[in-house]
Amino acid sequence: MNVTTGPKVDRERLWNMLSEMGDIGKNGAGRTRLALSAEDLEARRLLVRWMKELGLDVRMDACANIWGVRNGRDATERPVVMGSHIDTVRDAGMFDGVMGVLSGLAAIRAMNEANVETRRPVAVVSFTDEEGGHFLSGGLAGSRLMAGAVDLETLRSKRNAQGKSWVDALNESGFLGKDRLEPHAYLEYHIEQGPVLVDEGIQIGVVQGVVGLSWLRVAFRGEANHAGAFPMNRRHDAGLAAARAIVELNRLAFELGEGTVITPGQLAQHPNFPNIVPGEAVLTVDIRQFDPDLLERGIARLKDVVREAGECEGVATEIETLSRTQHAAFPKEMVSLVEGKAKDLGYSTRRMPSGAGHDAQIVSTLCPAAMIFVPSKDGRSHCPEEYTSPEDVGNGADVLLHCALDLARAPKALRENGI
Ligand SMILES: [Zn+2]
Repeated sequence: MNVTTGPKVDRERLWNMLSEMGDIGKNGAGRTRLALSAEDLEARRLLVRWMKELGLDVRMDACANIWGVRNGRDATERPVVMGSHIDTVRDAGMFDGVMGVLSGLAAIRAMNEANVETRRPVAVVSFTDEEGGHFLSGGLAGSRLMAGAVDLETLRSKRNAQGKSWVDALNESGFLGKDRLEPHAYLEYHIEQGPVLVDEGIQIGVVQGVVGLSWLRVAFRGEANHAGAFPMNRRHDAGLAAARAIVELNRLAFELGEGTVITPGQLAQHPNFPNIVPGEAVLTVDIRQFDPDLLERGIARLKDVVREAGECEGVATEIETLSRTQHAAFPKEMVSLVEGKAKDLGYSTRRMPSGAGHDAQIVSTLCPAAMIFVPSKDGRSHCPEEYTSPEDVGNGADVLLHCALDLARAPKALRENGI
């Protein structure tokens, strides 16, 4: 199909839908729709209404993920799926996640209005609890459950601030179902959440995959002593060792380069008292890198840097790995598809990894996946200032539409095409 003369999304309508859903959970400049909260459920009801208005077959699965399916000619084929999430962090913007879901609906509306028939079904999915902050579920819960990367038992112990368990909230949501859908391919359209596209003046980010990451907890164990009576040259200051490690880890990230990011995000000192030399300091470190070899090297160097910082201050170190997520590289044919459609539509493109986690990295273990990024103003997200212009929102939605059309119409299975 010629993309320039083919169907296009109704940009104004898409923007109005974003605004309408963005009003749910609104409080001041931001909105809060924590997973499985009353606000999230209200947004889900609106999503289902919109899916039905488009004539989609609405289905729910055992993780309360919501699917809207547009039939294809061949009922035996698996659907080409466009999706993301509609839950938010606290005081969120109106684009993260929700833009990908509503653009999927806009793409289907464009297909309906152009009377397009596809061989495969085309579906939109909204995954449950992508953000993970409400129940400290670790995020990506709906997609991880679907892919078998986590089980319900593990989530049973996850509770929100009111003591309600994740599983109870899921059971009471009214969105549980028995359908099981297996995507033929998955497309996730999302804001970049960083400053690269804006800084370089690029319209469409072609996502090569999602970075691998590791979280480590480092404990420095020194000696608590009197802040006045104990001399400087005899101290084993755990806080100082942690401070030294923080500075050296920052240097290490620049030395490793290639987009490596290292963040010592959390620091707790004990006894954390004005006139006591800190006897213990516990630091969490988040390291991310797309290249798996470089990430491995980075983690090894990180541990050396931490130990050296401890030795410098005569402080013992203990390093514990809290989590390790492998990088997800999207198939090159899927990456080329996004890039090709964006270029055909006349947009400037740039290949880039995603530094943030997304459902696509989980779904990519089930089927070929790809992601499309558009610019985030000032690189901001997870805050009320999060903003992407109506033009950029529309550009990415058109790329999404044409990628989905291609995949849904292709006569062969992706696998036969070498994907
Ligand atoms: Zn998101």
